Amino acid sequence: MKIIAIDLDGTLLNHNSEISKENADAIKEAQGHGVEVVVATGRAEFDVRQVFSKTDINTWVIGANGATIHTPERKLFDSVPLPPNHAEDILEWLERKEFYYEVFSDEAILTPENGRRLLEIELDRLKTANPQTDMKTLYHSMEKQFGQTGFAHVKTYQEIIQSKERLYNILAFSFDEEKRAEGWRRFEGMEELTLVSSGLHNFELEHKEASKGLALQKLARHFGIEMEDTAAIGDSPNDLSMIQMAGKSAAMANGRDPVIEASDFITKSNDDHGVAYAIHRWLKEDSSTHPA
Ligand code: CA
Repeated sequence: MKIIAIDLDGTLLNHNSEISKENADAIKEAQGHGVEVVVATGRAEFDVRQVFSKTDINTWVIGANGATIHTPERKLFDSVPLPPNHAEDILEWLERKEFYYEVFSDEAILTPENGRRLLEIELDRLKTANPQTDMKTLYHSMEKQFGQTGFAHVKTYQEIIQSKERLYNILAFSFDEEKRAEGWRRFEGMEELTLVSSGLHNFELEHKEASKGLALQKLARHFGIEMEDTAAIGDSPNDLSMIQMAGKSAAMANGRDPVIEASDFITKSNDDHGVAYAIHRWLKEDSSTHPA
């Protein structure tokens, strides 16, 4: 194994969005063995750096579900922005349907200034419709969304389009299941786009040529490494592309069913250092096939 691509939320990060010492040590051990460690996430690159700022780990970053690749020195290595006309159509629709959304540019996460209010209204409706709803988990999910770094607020999506910035990823987030399903139906047939989901309450749109798997392939080519010498680990459907394309793959014990079905094996959960467990297993396999 020469490259290992690791998802962040639900995979490398525990439920408090922290990197455990066990996981950090395992990454450094892999790097010590000459393995190129790559973080592959739906998050924006600048947000990822903030997450890693409390560690001494530095890696390549596949961000925005594969729409960006940054070097360890934070230089943009490759990018696949959304076609501007598609971005406009998507955002017009999301705003009309009163979705909370986030748009990733090079510098910021652009989001409507009434975003929190929109989600609070949805939560109030849920609570009224079903007083038994586990509100604590839902609030945690909302706060995690707002825990990212780099927000810039807009009054309407037109500000985003008029800014002429390169836009990489559009994330729509809703606690309303029917509303999410309507969004999925609206966009799933569009051949120009990649539609994925990284969490229970979202769906995300990128250029059709952007995915974690395609980004891993670009990096492997850059390093002159065969795909059979790559490994990937994740928990959600937006990890499927890299899990299917990598030579070796692991699903988190807390992962969703399609990811578990597509992976070579199931590692431990994100609260039980599943990344460290998978890395150690792969390093051990390598040392038994190529004894030092
Ligand atoms: Ca994830």
